[in-house]
Amino acid sequence: MVLEAKEALSNLEAFRAELAVWARSCGRAPEDLRILLASKTVPADILRAMAQREPLLLGENFAQELKGKAPLLAGLPVEWHFIGHLQSNKVKDVLPLVTMIHSLDRPSLAKELHRRLAREGRRLPVLLEVNTSGEPQKHGLKPEETEPFLASLLSYETLSVEGLMTVAPLTQDEDRIQRSFYSLRELRDRLQGRFPELSLVHLSMGMSGDWKLAVAEGATILRIGTAIFGPRRA
Ligand SMILES: *Cc1c(COP(=O)(O)O)cnc(C)c1O
Repeated sequence: MVLEAKEALSNLEAFRAELAVWARSCGRAPEDLRILLASKTVPADILRAMAQREPLLLGENFAQELKGKAPLLAGLPVEWHFIGHLQSNKVKDVLPLVTMIHSLDRPSLAKELHRRLAREGRRLPVLLEVNTSGEPQKHGLKPEETEPFLASLLSYETLSVEGLMTVAPLTQDEDRIQRSFYSLRELRDRLQGRFPELSLVHLSMGMSGDWKLAVAEGATILRIGTAIFGPRRA
C-alpha cells in the first residue's frame, strides 16, 4: 500500500478514537457523527488504497476533480458527497457520482438540480449552505435568506432537504467559531419548527481545526481533510 494511504488510515483511526472520547464528553453518541474525508487534492491512488481497507465517505469540492477521481475508485466501498461551490453547468457531471450535495445555496442551482433529477425520477439528499460568519468572500445563504429559500424548495419533490452546512470563520477566536456553529444549529431548530414535514437531521460543520466546537454544538457530519491527509500541497 502507498505510504500516504497507510499514514492517512492510521490518522483516521486515531481521529476516530479522539472523536469518540470527545463526543461522549459532550453527551453525544459517537455513532451519530459521520466523518467525511475532505479529499480535495488527494490523489486517487491514495484514496483507492484506503478504500481497499475500509469503506470511506469522501467529499470533493471541484466537479472536474471528482469526475476524474471517482471512476478510479469504481467498485470500492466509497460514497461521494459534493461539498464545494457548484456551478450550474457542472451539475450534470456531479449528479451521477454523489449521494449528497452540501452546498445548495441559490435558486438557480436548485432549479438545475431539479431539472436533471426529475428526468431520472431520482431524489437527492441536499443540505443548504449558510454563511454564518458574515465574511463576504464566503459562499452560502445569508441566515435570513434561508427560510424563504427553503420554502421555495418545497415544490421540488426531487430535493430531499436534510439539514444545513456551514464553514466557520478562519480565525483563532474560538468564540467567533462557536457562535458560527451555534447559529447554524439555532437556525436549523427554527426551520425544523417552521417545516415539521421535513426532517432536518444534519448539521455539516467542523473541519480539522474546529471540529471539537462543532461536535459540542451538534454537528452530525464532520468534514476533515488536513488531520487525516496532512497539509495540502498547493
Ligand atoms: C477543505 C475543506 C474541508 C476540510 O478542511 P481541513 O481544514 O483540511 O480539515 C472542509 N470543508 C470544506 C468545504 C473544505 O473545502
